[in-house]
Amino acid sequence: MPVATNTDSAPVLQTLPGDDVRQLMWRFADRYDLAMLVQAARTVARGPVARLVAQGARNSHEWTAEKASLLPVYDESGITAAFLDPQHGGFIEGPKNLALALIAFELAWVDAGAATCSLAGNLGLAPIHERGTPEQRDHYMTLAAPPKPGENRKQIRAAFALTEPIPFVGVETGILAGKVRVAEWADGKEPILQVEKRGRFITNMGFANVVTAAVDSDDPRIKGACMIILEEGDPGTWDRGTPTKKLVHQLSSTRDPVLNLRVPAGRIIGGYTIKDGVIIPRYSNSDVIEAVFSHTRVTVGLMTSAKLLSAVEPVIMYQRRRFRGGEGAPGTPRYELGLQQKEDVLHRLVDVWATGEASASLGFEAARLFDQLDPLEKQKDAYMAAKKLSGRAVFKALAAVHTEAIESLALAAKPEGHRDKNRIAELRKNPLLEFVIIDSLANVLCPACKLWNTGHGANMMREAVSLMGGYGVTEDCPGFLGQKWMDAQLEATYEGPEAVQRLQLSITMTNELFLAQYKQWIEDMHLVASERPGTGACSLATAMRLWLWTFKHLQTATDADGGKLYHKSRQSVTFPLADALCWLLAARQFILDIIELEQKGVANPALAGGLPSFVGFFTDLAHVQSARAAGEVGRICAELVYGYNRHPAWNAESCRSCYSAEELTSLEGIVPGIDGSARAYADVKEANEEHPSKAGPCVSFKGLEPFVRLRMKLDGCLTGARLAKDRAAESLTKVMIPEALDYPV
Ligand SMILES: Cc1cc2nc3c(=O)[nH]c(=O)nc-3n(C[C@H](O)[C@H](O)[C@H](O)COP(=O)(O)OP(=O)(O)OC[C@H]3O[C@@H](n4cnc5c(N)ncnc54)[C@H](O)[C@@H]3O)c2cc1C
Repeated sequence: MPVATNTDSAPVLQTLPGDDVRQLMWRFADRYDLAMLVQAARTVARGPVARLVAQGARNSHEWTAEKASLLPVYDESGITAAFLDPQHGGFIEGPKNLALALIAFELAWVDAGAATCSLAGNLGLAPIHERGTPEQRDHYMTLAAPPKPGENRKQIRAAFALTEPIPFVGVETGILAGKVRVAEWADGKEPILQVEKRGRFITNMGFANVVTAAVDSDDPRIKGACMIILEEGDPGTWDRGTPTKKLVHQLSSTRDPVLNLRVPAGRIIGGYTIKDGVIIPRYSNSDVIEAVFSHTRVTVGLMTSAKLLSAVEPVIMYQRRRFRGGEGAPGTPRYELGLQQKEDVLHRLVDVWATGEASASLGFEAARLFDQLDPLEKQKDAYMAAKKLSGRAVFKALAAVHTEAIESLALAAKPEGHRDKNRIAELRKNPLLEFVIIDSLANVLCPACKLWNTGHGANMMREAVSLMGGYGVTEDCPGFLGQKWMDAQLEATYEGPEAVQRLQLSITMTNELFLAQYKQWIEDMHLVASERPGTGACSLATAMRLWLWTFKHLQTATDADGGKLYHKSRQSVTFPLADALCWLLAARQFILDIIELEQKGVANPALAGGLPSFVGFFTDLAHVQSARAAGEVGRICAELVYGYNRHPAWNAESCRSCYSAEELTSLEGIVPGIDGSARAYADVKEANEEHPSKAGPCVSFKGLEPFVRLRMKLDGCLTGARLAKDRAAESLTKVMIPEALDYPV
């Protein structure tokens, strides 16, 4: 029986949510290995990392010995090896997206630069991991593992070099200044290549000894762009370059390297073939980058979520203690509650917390989805290889499964007993079916979480900082909130800034397979609304419907001059629509995670007593977040639906069709009520006016009636959202918090 139907008497939050709650919400309660990894990463974050930040190690952009001391700590704690497969020295079997996401979350809870330092090593190795030949993978991954005791070898630390000095690679990764040429090619021997790459803002470059670099061919004997492995010690120039004078992520190293090296062609990631005297890399630069970023961006998104959630405790602590030691003895509201006597600071903290929850929910769901997708992708690759399909043929083979995939989704959505189980079983025999379904979701959730978690997250970090008053912008701010705010902006920028994510979403969200699942989610959300009205699922479901209506409308609608609206050159249409979708996805996932907590929490004795208070509080937060999401979606959709129609102006014809106030007054005697009803439905000009004093005649909504109705409904669906916020705010005044943060500040 659902308990999440909040009333004014719902239990208030007693303590901040701990691991028992998180393990259920983020679905790793059955993964002992991950629970241990979380503990290990947390010990590093709240120990050595926090001490470095507290001692001011962030005040230099140089890669110092103190910062370098973190690398062996990562090695010893298992953070480094978590990326690796067991045969290469790792300890986690199978896909590791959730594992890496949890590590990033824990480290970024204290300092995202420390998280980036560890993640950038994985990013440097990821091209080899995702697209390397088996030999490349075995060689480099094994050497990336921390040496075992007694093993005397140098450990590989990698960097990923895509971005180049202006005017080359930034957002657009297609035009590369980095070049590769054939330096030597003796008969029957492996070609030797000359690789020139200048990087800009390359993380880990202060200490990396392997770089995976994106380069383009500058030689007719090499086809196209590729990624290539460079090693310190290769003949030529290995200049680490100048350190970037960054204001963010100071616990990672960032430099502009200059690399000009001779390497064997076997370093091309994924290998190559030779045809008619031309080296043809198996994978292009973009093939590799796409495979890498699709995974790594999720982790970046979660770093900002960690910051928002980490802000809750220090802000509450600050608020409660704000006036202690002045007027007001212990026991008085001034002493006990401090700033929390004021409604606004509570409501703002509720917003920060709700955003943190929704973004974490979205990010961890994306990470789990990639854990599901990875083995399916391997299966798909094996299938294509067996059929000898490559390039466009692969796309065609996948597209051919879409119709069946949509049919299978529709069948699965029918109520139990009405499903054609034989047909479902028949469709599921297709080895590509599950892959295309999950892939269509991953292609939306990954950019959505990178975009929304970091972009909106950075805005909300500012809110968190502002709640600390002047303290917020000092180095002494508990929880390092000021640094976290600035750091969030980098998370919104690197691995592709917001425009890149919006661009990708504007394409992937049009996939019929995604839309088929989205439509089902709307129905599901209505059901949630009827069982758990307190979650705000009702406003969310209506907002999801409004988004879908707007999306479909914009596919064919034109602007006032006949210009197509949903078009790749029309970023002002496609980008806001992508933003709106993110709000919905995040709020939806938060609600689903609360349901999971409620359903699974009862079986956990450690949690059972406190469960209703967590579920009740989260339910109110979800209501707040759903209402905010609905508001954003309503605003964005209304601007897009109405904003491209030209407003009618006062011309002779429209002025003539206005009623005159004098006429109406005289008619009132003959037709009682005409004055009022004419004013409600038509334009009326007063005496001595040429036309009513407003922008123009009232706009016609012809063809937009369903939108008008949905929008009105949406506003009504916000009923109760502010009551939920009041309750959540009250919880913030009652929740018990520890005496001090569990890391040095
Ligand atoms: C500390 C730090 C560490 C980094 N680490 C690495 C690393 O390890 N490896 C690496 O390869 N790179 C790294 N980068 C580079 C980072 O990925 C780029 O800075 C980022 O991708 C943005 O590129 P840019 O700086 O050239 O911005 P620009 O491309 O100049 O973008 C500027 C603005 O214009 C907008 N814009 C640009 N093009 C478009 C478009 N087509 N449509 C709409 N809007 C657009 C962008 O959204 C942005 O708002 C790092 C950067 C920093 C600051």
